[in-house]
Amino acid sequence: MSESIDPVDRLLATARGDAAADPFRVTGVMMQYYHACERELWFASRQLEIDRENPAVVRGTRVDETAYGGRESKQLGMIAIDLLEDGRVVEVKPSSKLVEPARMQLAYYLWYLDRVAGVQRDGVLAHPRERERETVELTDDLAERVEDAIRGIHDLVTEESPPPAEEKPFCEACAYHDFCWC
Ligand code: SF4
Repeated sequence: MSESIDPVDRLLATARGDAAADPFRVTGVMMQYYHACERELWFASRQLEIDRENPAVVRGTRVDETAYGGRESKQLGMIAIDLLEDGRVVEVKPSSKLVEPARMQLAYYLWYLDRVAGVQRDGVLAHPRERERETVELTDDLAERVEDAIRGIHDLVTEESPPPAEEKPFCEACAYHDFCWC
């Protein structure tokens, strides 16, 4: 039955507690992986063994902890967010190779806050070491991209096999490197 329901509607029903029999969840990390490497997301969705010390797996967290004084994230359903003192949502851009994945992760947080909690916030994409900050607003266009990505994630994680490996600048540091290149 779930095949005919828009994954966005399924996700929203899950977030509101109305889809116990047929839940669909997307975390911020899933949104990031989807934009970094779809194959990586597929592996992660199968909960394959990964090395938690691998910088690819903790690439966002490490920067966050050191640069922002180890602030605790606030969990809201499927997402865990950090808020700046002025109420904006902050996401740390871990490296120049992962700007777009981090931007879409942040966009997903803004979308989730708006659609699930009715809370409108702007976001800040920060690179602490470079002292750069980019403001991200949830425009209609960005919200549409988030919803397209949710549908794409749904299609990907329900595939029986992963998409083929395509070399990325961060493959060497990826937890799944050996599954792709050895
Ligand atoms: S090693 Fe490269 S292609 Fe393979 S999952 Fe990781 S990022 Fe993707």
